[in-house]
Amino acid sequence: TWDQEEAIDEGFWRRRLQRAIDGRRALAADPATTAYRLVYGESDGLPGLIVDRYGDSLVVQSLALGIETVKPMLVDLLAELAQPALIVERSDVDVRAKEGLAEVAGVVRGRAPDGDGVVVEIREHGHRFLVDLLRGQKTGFYLDQRENRQRLAGISSQGARVLNAFAYTGGFAVYALAAGAGHVTNLDSSLEALELAERNLQLNGFDPDAQADGVVGDVFQVLRAWRQEGQVFDTIILDPPKFVTKQANIDRAARAYKDINLLGMQLLRPGGILATFSCSGLVTADLFQKIVFGASVDSRREVQIVERLSQGPDHPVLLSFPEGEYLKGLICRVW
Ligand code: SAH
Repeated sequence: TWDQEEAIDEGFWRRRLQRAIDGRRALAADPATTAYRLVYGESDGLPGLIVDRYGDSLVVQSLALGIETVKPMLVDLLAELAQPALIVERSDVDVRAKEGLAEVAGVVRGRAPDGDGVVVEIREHGHRFLVDLLRGQKTGFYLDQRENRQRLAGISSQGARVLNAFAYTGGFAVYALAAGAGHVTNLDSSLEALELAERNLQLNGFDPDAQADGVVGDVFQVLRAWRQEGQVFDTIILDPPKFVTKQANIDRAARAYKDINLLGMQLLRPGGILATFSCSGLVTADLFQKIVFGASVDSRREVQIVERLSQGPDHPVLLSFPEGEYLKGLICRVW
């Protein structure tokens, strides 16, 4: 708080949580989308706290000692204010070690369904997805890409042959097929993610055998091999994990971003679409654009930016905490 007189008591936490919930009213009212970020840490005045809504379940992540000390109270308040059927904690992230905290994960409110994991079904812009709240990456789904999946679907050409690199559970793939793509190749290093991707395609009425491929592999190696074979795609999505975790890594990470973008451009037909992302907060939008420019020079392809992308409105950026802006993307046409 900027107010020295404001007491940090239950009322304080209640007001902060209520403000975060109120800020998502428009999303909450949209029946086509049932999953979104309810609390985005510093940006919502709750440093170190992440809360994601997946239908009638909440996933809570505590990343800092300050928030950890009031966690039980926050869980009580969330149960009261958001009325979820289930609250899962996913504080199994290594950054907690810096705060002297162990990793914890599990159901903290409500009864978990029987069986392995806690798999729930959500909707995003009307598309259906299964999310494993206990074993999925992050809190289960990359909610920050929701609007970007929609933007890209609007730009892709009918019948397009799409490469979805760093596919995870096939978010971009489902949107692309729904928008008229002919075939999608989901490429990821995680077999579990691709298995869920296949189930997500089926859930949306697509035939994973006829309309999609799932390839387990390392994007850097697989794209090199495909370039060698002369493979060509109409649309390529590059949504890698965070390559930069500290300032000291930035040069190496920049080379990695350039490498995959170069390979992506070389695998595109003239006039094809490249949707390329960086979720590294330390890579600014300006630097990212320069890296993509470097890739275009080396691949001798002319590249137009068709659209600039960022994180969704449920990941707001507080003006006094610009570090909250981390996701940037470019939709490019590659000639
Ligand atoms: N595009 C996804 C999110 C991608 S997250 C979505 O919209 O949901 C990054 C993904 O990259 C993770 O699924 C992770 O398993 C995968 N990954 C990380 N490094 C990789 C590599 N070198 N090659 C292939 N996949 C990788």
